[in-house]
Amino acid sequence: MAAADSAMGNNMLRGAEVLIVGAGFYGATLAERIATKLGRRVLVIDRRPHIGGNAYTELDPVTGVEIHRYGPHISHTSNAAVWDYLHRFTGFNSYRHRGFSTFGGKTYSLPINLATICQFFGRQLSPDEARTMIAEQASELGERPPANLEEKAISLVGRPLYEAFIKGYSAKQWQTDPHELPARIIERLPVRYTFEDGYFNDRFQGQPLNGYTAVFEKMLSHELIEMKLGVDFFDIKNLLPKDLPVVYTSPVDRYFDYSERDLGWRTIDIELEVMDIPDYQGTAIMNYAEEAVPYTRVTEFRHFNPERPHHVDKTLIGREYSRFARRADEPYYPIDTHNDQAIYRNYLARASQERNLHLGGRLGTYRYLDMHQAIGAALKAFETVFEPYFEGSQASLSRAT
Ligand code: UDP
Repeated sequence: MAAADSAMGNNMLRGAEVLIVGAGFYGATLAERIATKLGRRVLVIDRRPHIGGNAYTELDPVTGVEIHRYGPHISHTSNAAVWDYLHRFTGFNSYRHRGFSTFGGKTYSLPINLATICQFFGRQLSPDEARTMIAEQASELGERPPANLEEKAISLVGRPLYEAFIKGYSAKQWQTDPHELPARIIERLPVRYTFEDGYFNDRFQGQPLNGYTAVFEKMLSHELIEMKLGVDFFDIKNLLPKDLPVVYTSPVDRYFDYSERDLGWRTIDIELEVMDIPDYQGTAIMNYAEEAVPYTRVTEFRHFNPERPHHVDKTLIGREYSRFARRADEPYYPIDTHNDQAIYRNYLARASQERNLHLGGRLGTYRYLDMHQAIGAALKAFETVFEPYFEGSQASLSRAT
């Protein structure tokens, strides 16, 4: 590296001992911990003009409603450490998410629960009767363990409910043969033989009182954290000292310049619309199960924070259209087919050769992490990797997962 380049790199770092690429939950949590607990100087950069990654929210000036710019985010966890940690930066309202899905001109409760089953089959069923009926409908696989999303879904809810609520929605969401999709996608959704209709099973749930961006502002407001927005890591990479610790939370295939081929990602286009009515759909998220409806779901943001003041006669909705992400798009979801998994393993092998590189978050580790899982993983990495590293008892930041 030329001396001038190196000087420019050091100037930009301004004494930072670690560079964090990406100001989403993984990066912000590590930045906050390293600054607060270890007293080390941290530089956080993000290519986008805002903090918060895909959890970024902002106030819509017309309706006074907090928009989730990259689709709906809902806080839920059973991990008390994560919940306590988040409470350092925000209070939460009492929002508990209930899901709904529209199919055949009717609206059903989601995730599939006893109410959904009774309504769908037009019968009054006890938990045992419903269980027996679904077990029969799910028996087509025999003893064979489910190997993909379709088989897993059928084993959980039987073919009729799969075809109504999962097949079309997943086809729109993933545009990938359901035999190629991992079973764990559908394990995110509980199936219940009770009338409990909450979307998540988690103990702790709510929405931050002032939106997600306010949470990030507080997390990153430490005097030892410097934040630079609109900076692309790949524009500065060659200026940085070779031994600088880097936490990289952007897409892992990009880090290695796609050398092992592109990973499959999905992105979402969100069509926002202000409506001159107080309430469009009576709930925060309405899913559309049929393939004939081009969007997957509609979010009406005001319902996430009913306690907040907003325009009483207007509401704001966002329709979500899912599509394959090209390199220039913002990736949202790892598709994670068998082929992707093989590609990812090659990237992991390459990453393990770089002692100063730490991959994290949904994009950096190519895992369908929820916010609480990204925060939990960052808290764990702080303890198991970063504390030992900065205390001198561990030489490498690379991880085995
Ligand atoms: N899913 C479905 N029907 C629905 C909702 C979800 O088939 O009405 C499936 C679909 O494959 C989806 C996955 O379950 O990708 C996970 O859904 P979730 O609501 O957790 O997705 P996210 O909010 O992360 O987009």
